[in-house]
Amino acid sequence: MEILQNYSLKKYNTFGIEAYAKQFIAVQSIPELINILKLHAFEKKFILGGGSNMLLTKDIDALVIHIDLHGKKIIKQDNNFVWVESQAGENWHELVLWAIAQNFGGFENMSLIPGNVGATPVQNIGAYGTEIKDTFVSCEALHIDNYKIKTFLKEECQFGYRESVFKNEIKDKYIITSVIFKLTRKNHKINVSYGDIQAELAKKNIDIPSLIDISNAVIAIRKSKLPDPKVLGNSGSFFKNPILLKSEFEPIFKKFPEMKFYEISETQVKVPAGWLIEQAGFKGKRFGDAGIHKNQALVIVNYGNATGQEILNVSKDVQRTVFEKFGISIEAEVNVI
Ligand SMILES: Cc1cc2nc3c(=O)[nH]c(=O)nc-3n(C[C@H](O)[C@H](O)[C@H](O)COP(=O)(O)OP(=O)(O)OC[C@H]3O[C@@H](n4cnc5c(N)ncnc54)[C@H](O)[C@@H]3O)c2cc1C
Repeated sequence: MEILQNYSLKKYNTFGIEAYAKQFIAVQSIPELINILKLHAFEKKFILGGGSNMLLTKDIDALVIHIDLHGKKIIKQDNNFVWVESQAGENWHELVLWAIAQNFGGFENMSLIPGNVGATPVQNIGAYGTEIKDTFVSCEALHIDNYKIKTFLKEECQFGYRESVFKNEIKDKYIITSVIFKLTRKNHKINVSYGDIQAELAKKNIDIPSLIDISNAVIAIRKSKLPDPKVLGNSGSFFKNPILLKSEFEPIFKKFPEMKFYEISETQVKVPAGWLIEQAGFKGKRFGDAGIHKNQALVIVNYGNATGQEILNVSKDVQRTVFEKFGISIEAEVNVI
């Protein structure tokens, strides 16, 4: 168990930002994790998964604990469902592919989302009509100060659009160590609600898609739209799609009748932030080594040597301009550190 001092996090964040951890350790077991927490009880700690949802704007003046717990197993099954437990350090996409190979359904629309399993409940990850809350049963989490393990049932996680209790009330208090998911063994709920998926399946003349067909379609769409962080640093969608009350939205829509929106309830609409950013003239714009991706206006990229502060400045410029033009606030999805 080695604590590294003044350790570069460049390889540990998908933006590829050069920032240093005052101290760094990768933990591979729960006893080791508890031991470290006890030994460093009075120091600040920072929990790191795969670093694919964070923007490091400065060095981290804390003990950075990289959660490297591995293993997955089937803990229960009946005729229709299977309950799978995964340790927090498992790579999410590898878990998705493993599940599909066993013919377990529920993850396929979330193929190729970077990061590790432990972070999936933190922002209730989602893509193409599916969110982690749809398959999530519970997770175990270790309290950072009293070292007790608590099981969080789905109802306690307060899942919302890219939200959970772990991002809000109990932020930085718990380390998620494992997650249990409930997946289908048959009668899979194939979700082709997104037009992009339908188009991709049609290209291959697939009428009755299997889990792997959906996964392959999602992978193809994502590869065509999103920059690969290994090639161009980024953290996926930098902003959330704003949700507005219809009463707020209507006067804006009168001014901008071409505005895209989706009705999400009787009283609310969701506006695609990418569309707002594109209309504000930012798509493909570059500011030094920071910029907005040419194909996807929601994604801020690092062309090489941008600092976290430069990326943050671009994001603020985008937020300000969108607000000035449309009167709509867009909020960061990425954790700004
Ligand atoms: C190209 C690209 C595409 C993306 N597409 C999507 C998408 O379609 N949908 C989507 O929802 N997200 C997407 N993301 C964002 C990201 O992949 C997810 O949010 C992912 O779940 C983050 O996992 P991570 O392990 O990298 O978390 P990290 O970035 O390491 O951490 C994120 C936050 O969670 C906390 N955390 C991490 N692990 C734990 C733990 N074990 N216990 C407690 N807290 C923890 C961290 O402290 C931090 O606050 C994308 C990112 C990229 C780079």
